[in-house]
Amino acid sequence: MTATTVPTHQPVEGPPFAGGFVSPDHPTRERVLTDLRAVLGGSGVVAEPAALVAYENDGYMARAKPLAVCLPSTTDQVVSIVRIARQYGLPVTPRGAGTGLSGGATPIHGGLVIGTARMNRVRSIDAPNRRAVVEPGVVNADLGRAVEPLGLFFAPDPSSQAASTIGGNVAENAGGPHCLAYGVTANHILGVEAVLIDGTVIRTGELSTNVNAPDAPGYDLPGILTGSEGTLAFITAVTVRLMTRPEAVRTILALFDSLDAAGSATSAVVGAGIIPAALEFVDGVTIGALRGGGFTEYPEGVEALLLVEVEGLTEASAAEAAAIEAILEASGAKEVRVAASAAERQQLWRGRKGALGALGRLAPNYYIQDGVVPRTRLVEVLGKVQALARRENLLIANVFHAGDGNLHPNILFDARTPGLTARVIAAGEEILRACIDAGGTLSGEHGVGIEKAAYLDWVMTPADRTAQRAIKRTFDDGGWLNPGKP
Ligand SMILES: Cc1cc2nc3c(=O)[nH]c(=O)nc-3n(C[C@H](O)[C@H](O)[C@H](O)COP(=O)(O)OP(=O)(O)OC[C@H]3O[C@@H](n4cnc5c(N)ncnc54)[C@H](O)[C@@H]3O)c2cc1C
Repeated sequence: MTATTVPTHQPVEGPPFAGGFVSPDHPTRERVLTDLRAVLGGSGVVAEPAALVAYENDGYMARAKPLAVCLPSTTDQVVSIVRIARQYGLPVTPRGAGTGLSGGATPIHGGLVIGTARMNRVRSIDAPNRRAVVEPGVVNADLGRAVEPLGLFFAPDPSSQAASTIGGNVAENAGGPHCLAYGVTANHILGVEAVLIDGTVIRTGELSTNVNAPDAPGYDLPGILTGSEGTLAFITAVTVRLMTRPEAVRTILALFDSLDAAGSATSAVVGAGIIPAALEFVDGVTIGALRGGGFTEYPEGVEALLLVEVEGLTEASAAEAAAIEAILEASGAKEVRVAASAAERQQLWRGRKGALGALGRLAPNYYIQDGVVPRTRLVEVLGKVQALARRENLLIANVFHAGDGNLHPNILFDARTPGLTARVIAAGEEILRACIDAGGTLSGEHGVGIEKAAYLDWVMTPADRTAQRAIKRTFDDGGWLNPGKP
């Protein structure tokens, strides 16, 4: 059997697979591998136990071994892999870069993982119509670099954008610092090509019509596939919306003596009717970790900082920046700085983008939460997180997209300490409960995956769950695609 380690509070649901799991010593295993190699060649099939370790998990703590990892280059190859999987009764788990934080790409029922590393071409860029067709394995930042010379950009900018893929961003409906102003990934997807679990290829939205259609006929299938976490279809191409680069960008750094003051300043900016392009929160624990790694742009001795960015026409953004500076000062910022050049702006962002990585200096393991609260309740919920950290003697770092109320308390710990992982999971659950009690929800951008499957009933009625399951059954009645994820 597959070696599966899932924190015990997680229900690992899944259908009884007709053919059962093909274990490494099962006589059909070699036949499966032979058939896959006939389609993908030797290098397109990963089956060595040591190499499979890299595909056992994503950024969440559950682990499970697949039978094999397939690395197709074309949609036709994906069709063949899916058919082989069905023939042998194997579940299929899609995988991008594996940066997910909720266990979405973890093959908890074994079977085949289909990775998109070789489906990484930008197929076309249509600058006049501000769109591009890309394969799912294109890295988010590479798409940005490809369209930058044309004065365009792809707005969703998860902090993992140097590694995470467009397929993973679509499947998780990823957010990012600038999604406050531009909207999350769903707002930037115009069409999706995907392989269904029976091997049928569908083209939805603009990939079916090839026309900018504000209201394409039929149901909004790109909308259904966006955020489906690999449970409905395998995405093989995406038409993305591109935006025109703004004329001016201003980035403001505000330093605070307390988390409360920074939280109140966030509410004050948004309460004044200003929607900045980004409004990010970094706490003192995170600043300490960044400084320890040599990033000294964020000063020491502050409990929290806000990074605020406004974009638009030169005069309008200057006026908006001045208004924000005044609000930050009135909210108790002990210092407010404005980046004077593009290089300074990039330097300020480098700390925010590198924050999660820097936390690795403080502890070998982390468990990051992804709750959402109404912006007016930020201070209250942050206070609960701090109280929890004190009560449980846990180190919790906070770095998050404050503008849209998306909290990411990050519990730093050493999983080798007996009993600590269970306490950390319980603390994570308490944080999510506090978010829900404050009128928020379970996930802002990291998805449900296996991490939050047990909590869905907190936010959905039985009727909601029935409607969700009906959609799953329409696409994948047998539950073969990414099983164990809701
Ligand atoms: C340091 C760090 C910072 C992060 N910051 C952010 C952030 O700011 N905002 C945010 O939203 N997330 C963030 N994340 C989480 C993660 O990067 C995103 O969820 C990202 O979209 C995952 O992309 P991926 O390519 O790594 O996908 P994976 O982790 O490989 O997969 C994610 C999900 O997508 C499915 N999937 C992947 N490819 C396909 C496909 N072709 N067809 C169908 N399903 C597919 C998988 O089955 C899985 O369910 C961060 C993670 C890290 C480690």
